Amino acid sequence: MKLKIWSLTALVVAVSALYLTSASLSAKAQLPPRPALTAEAATTGLPTVQTAPLIDPTPEPTPTPTPLPPRKHSYNKCHVAGSEIAITFDDGPHPKLTPMLLDMMKERGIKGTFFLVGKRVAEYPEIAQRIVAEGHEVANHSWAHPQLTKLAPDALKKEIADTNDAIHRATGIQTTLMRPPYGAINASITKRLNEEFRLTVAMWSVDSLDWKIRNAAHVTKLITEKAAPGAIILAHDIHPSTVQAMPAVFDTLSAKGYKFVTMSELIALDLPAPIQTAPASIPAGPPIVTPAATLAPSATPATTTP
Ligand SMILES: [Zn+2]
Repeated sequence: MKLKIWSLTALVVAVSALYLTSASLSAKAQLPPRPALTAEAATTGLPTVQTAPLIDPTPEPTPTPTPLPPRKHSYNKCHVAGSEIAITFDDGPHPKLTPMLLDMMKERGIKGTFFLVGKRVAEYPEIAQRIVAEGHEVANHSWAHPQLTKLAPDALKKEIADTNDAIHRATGIQTTLMRPPYGAINASITKRLNEEFRLTVAMWSVDSLDWKIRNAAHVTKLITEKAAPGAIILAHDIHPSTVQAMPAVFDTLSAKGYKFVTMSELIALDLPAPIQTAPASIPAGPPIVTPAATLAPSATPATTTP
C-alpha cells in the first residue's frame, strides 16, 4: 500500500512537471516576434518599440561658407563693376607726413593701403597702429627697401619675414600683400612670395611719379587724369609734395564718383578680365611691370626713396 502511494505521488509529480514544461514552451511560442530596432523594420510595418527619432543614414552636409575666390599671384589693377579705386602709399610710416595724411583721409572718410617699410614700422609702431585703427590696410614693402631681384634667397627671406613680424607686432595684422620696392620682381620671386609667405604681389596701374616730380599740382593732375575704375594708384607718403597733393586728389576723384577702398577690398571685387576683341581697344597707359617680367638690366631703381 505504501508503495502504491509513492508510485501515485511520483506519477502526479511527473505529470505536473510535464504540464508546466509544455505550458512554458507554449507561452514562449505565443510571444510576439521581437521587433528589430532598425529603420528597415520600421518601414516594413513590423511592430516597433522605438520612440526616438530615427537616425538618418545620410545626414545633410553641414553648410560651409562660400569660399572667397582665389587670388591671382599678382595684381596691377582690378576689373570692377562699380567705381572702386585703391590709393596706395609706399615707404612709410613717416613720423610727420603720415599722420598729416591720415588726418586728411579721416576727414573725408577715404580708405587706403599703406605699404610699410619694416624698419620704419619698428621705429614708429604707433603710426602703424593708427593706420590700422582708422580702417586702412597695412602691407609689406620689405625691411630696408632693396631690389628683391638682387638678393640671395636667405636675404630675401629675412626682408620679407622680418617686415611681416614687425607689422604683426605693431598692429596684430598678418599682412597678405607685398609690394616689391621699385617694382623689381620676377616669376620665381612671385612664386616664393605666394607660396612661402602667402603674400600676393601688389603692383599698380597709375604711377603718380611723385618720387620724381616733387610738385603737388603735377601729382594731382597725373593721378586724377589717369584714374579709372579698378585702378591701383601708387604714391609715397614720405614726400611733402605728395601729401600736399592729396586733398585735391581725394576731392576731385570723389566728385567724379570714385569710391576709395583698400587694395584687399578691391581684389575681392575683381571680376574676370573682359575679353579684348582687338589690340586697339587696350587703353594706353604707363608701362606695367608684370610678375613674369624681369627688369631689364638697364632698369635703374629710384634713388629718391629709402
Ligand atoms: Zn618703395
